[in-house]
Amino acid sequence: MSEQKWALALHGGAGQISRDRITPEKETVFRAALARVLEIGTTLLDQGADALDAVEAVVKALELDPLFNAGRGSVLTSDATFELDAAIMRGSDLQAGAVINVGHIAHPISLARCILENSDHVILAGDGAERFALQHGFQMVGPSYFDTPHRREQLMQAKEAATVSLDHSDFKYGTVGAVARDVRGTLAAATSTGGMTNKHPGRVGDTPLIGSGTYADNATCAVSATGHGEAFIRMCVARDIAAQIEYGNLSLADAVHNKVFVDLPKIKGSGGVIAVGRTGLPILSFNSNGMFRAKAGQGSQPLIAIFGD
Ligand code: ASP
Repeated sequence: MSEQKWALALHGGAGQISRDRITPEKETVFRAALARVLEIGTTLLDQGADALDAVEAVVKALELDPLFNAGRGSVLTSDATFELDAAIMRGSDLQAGAVINVGHIAHPISLARCILENSDHVILAGDGAERFALQHGFQMVGPSYFDTPHRREQLMQAKEAATVSLDHSDFKYGTVGAVARDVRGTLAAATSTGGMTNKHPGRVGDTPLIGSGTYADNATCAVSATGHGEAFIRMCVARDIAAQIEYGNLSLADAVHNKVFVDLPKIKGSGGVIAVGRTGLPILSFNSNGMFRAKAGQGSQPLIAIFGD
């Protein structure tokens, strides 16, 4: 097989992200974080690493950074608990792993990968997922690992604004994700999240659902989504982007555009996706005000961006 050009994209969540909500100082901090994490992935891909290794490394780095709603910086449920979701998928053989509602795992994305590699299942949830993690040598962390004053404050605001509903349109969603193509042409996608602030305990978003928030198939594309998970589940966003390419012969850019700007708005689905295809640079697209995002391709200038312009 001839060597392909590698490509990588990452996101740190979409939502009401505009210049009047983020100070220039905060913007600098976010940009630096995105650039640092992008570099982790590009260095790996440049050295010939597998797409799966690259997306896991990128998402792990984002899970470590309390700026983002995943791992360390996860948001709280309405019970003020942490329920994290993650998924990872490899496009060469359609192998996938995902975890739902884990509260003691620092890197849910690595647990998802462990499920991909060491289990006959695709998704493990809750206690069963954590038992699987223990059996495979994962360290458990206590709730204090995730607890930050910022997320408590957000929970208080969410409770004041919308006691039980999931209408968090005034709040940034969050979630982190990465998609990559390696030099062998393998695609991979990874997504990790704390979910939505003030979510009902037990609620599952799109992130860990293969075909909704995360999908990868070498024949078409790799996709990682962020936004209002319920809408992304109902629209099967990630697989549907791939299906438009597979059955309709659409370009990746057109398939993404249809989903983000035509279909999702029909059900008021706010958010965005990052996607990479068999060739070319990744597509980053969102119908919210902004999306923390970055992309790079072999031989092209990296892009770091936050706002809609
Ligand atoms: N999609 C995630 C969820 O619904 C949230 C996000 O993207 O911020 O759980």
